[in-house]
Amino acid sequence: MLTDTHCHIDAYDNPLAVLDDARAAGVHVIAVTEDPGKYRLLRTRLGRRDGVDVALGFHPLRAGAASPHDLARFLRLLPQATWIGEIGLDFSRAGVATRKQQRRVFEAILADPQVRTRPVTVHSRGAERETIARLAQAQVPAILHWYTGPLSAVEDALVAGLWFSINPAMVRSKKAASLLQRLPPEHVLLETDGPFARSGSRSAVPSDLLGTLDHLARLWEIPTSEARNAVVENQQRFFGTHGQSPA
Ligand SMILES: [Zn+2]
Repeated sequence: MLTDTHCHIDAYDNPLAVLDDARAAGVHVIAVTEDPGKYRLLRTRLGRRDGVDVALGFHPLRAGAASPHDLARFLRLLPQATWIGEIGLDFSRAGVATRKQQRRVFEAILADPQVRTRPVTVHSRGAERETIARLAQAQVPAILHWYTGPLSAVEDALVAGLWFSINPAMVRSKKAASLLQRLPPEHVLLETDGPFARSGSRSAVPSDLLGTLDHLARLWEIPTSEARNAVVENQQRFFGTHGQSPA
């Protein structure tokens, strides 16, 4: 089964319909959250539902305004979380003023050894080099989601064993094209970042992973079925590094 490793299910108008559509397309969904409160809400809302894992998140732009209580809550929920995300750093214009607070939250999360045993999806906009360096130091083999940083940092990320998740908006962007050229296929995973990422004129949904696969197949000059096998193998290796079986 293909896995959408980064999807904001709680931000769609009708999350359950999106999940039904994903299931029909054979796509397992990792529902990232932006803070521990939203994680608990979404878990309650979805209950025990097949085809989706809710990830415990602390978005860097939320971390800027977080209280010590929020961080404590995150760390308390960590043992029960099967996925972590999204977490990370954002030093773009939106986040530059809260760099200090973001670092405090990110460091506290990376310092918890449980993070090394969970799949993690990470935001790094405008802070790519620092994010990569910290993940490398903490030995967290995370996924860099929607990477838009310098190509010169990609090599460091690969050496650190990091992964890159590709979404439908990226395969349409010129900047991402040069990233895709440089990425070895064995470090590629898939995501939608829906509904924030677009697929053409609408919000991306998990079943759009199939179109992204077509694109990767053309880029790698192999049939789509082989591209699919390659990504599924990557998923297995990625989950294997966390002692988890793939969804
Ligand atoms: Zn996101």
